[in-house]
Amino acid sequence: MSNAAPILSLRGVTRRFGGLVAVRDVDLDVVPGTIHGLIGPNGAGKSTAFDLVSGVTPVSAGTIRFDGRDVTHLPVHMRVEAGICRTFQTPRLFEAMTVLETVLTGRHRHARCGFLGSMFSLGAKARDEAQQTEVALRLLALVGLDGEADTTVSGLSYGARRKLEIARALATEPRLLLLDEVASGLNPVETEFVAGIIRRLAAEGMTIVLVEHDMRFIMGLCERVTVLNFGARIADGPPVSVTGDEAVIEAYLGR
Ligand code: ADP
Ligand code: MG
Repeated sequence: MSNAAPILSLRGVTRRFGGLVAVRDVDLDVVPGTIHGLIGPNGAGKSTAFDLVSGVTPVSAGTIRFDGRDVTHLPVHMRVEAGICRTFQTPRLFEAMTVLETVLTGRHRHARCGFLGSMFSLGAKARDEAQQTEVALRLLALVGLDGEADTTVSGLSYGARRKLEIARALATEPRLLLLDEVASGLNPVETEFVAGIIRRLAAEGMTIVLVEHDMRFIMGLCERVTVLNFGARIADGPPVSVTGDEAVIEAYLGR
């Protein structure tokens, strides 16, 4: 385990919907530059946790710190500017847009030069349209959609939509990327391809939190895993210790 200060830190984070506690008093630390798994049975609160970190939903209690800064009450766009971006469990794309236009929507707030800028060796002033398009095309190549730039979203396969969502999220130049079931519904070849993208991003220094049902996918990628059950954290640690944990086995098999 690294001694680096966590890039993302949750303390006592709770979200209630009426009488239902979707996320219950959760503490979570994510080490910068790592791939961190967030797992648990259906309804455990994983997507709600992403909603809270990305600002889609307000916390009922607790604090969220990103890169040393309290972001608990920041609106979504300010969290995106701070470097937090997420994908949704069900892709939220505009059917009538082209693939290229979709990625460019992710560029609008960001004409700055983050690490993706340096990754693609662009100048510090990647501000004009041609350069934005060039960044978008490089992101499409990264996710294997470079041949589909002019395709309309409505004509894309399910797997292609997943990849497009990743490209759009990357277009905001996140330092923390939250991926909600990006591999679900993908065939084994597509799954391995997406795993390769995730590894490459982490190798470039990005921090990634993965929600995923496919245990092999999680175990093959994550240095650390946090397990939620009924909104509460029931285990946290390296994948091997978590999979052997009695409470985790009970949560997955015992109901
Ligand atoms: P997971 O992603 O782990 O499957 P969710 O975070 O989607 O779980 O849901 C956690 C719990 O919160 C579930 O019981 C779900 O029905 C409930 N929930 C999620 N969003 C809402 C909402 N907007 N209103 C009411 N209940 C919600
Ligand atoms: Mg979910």
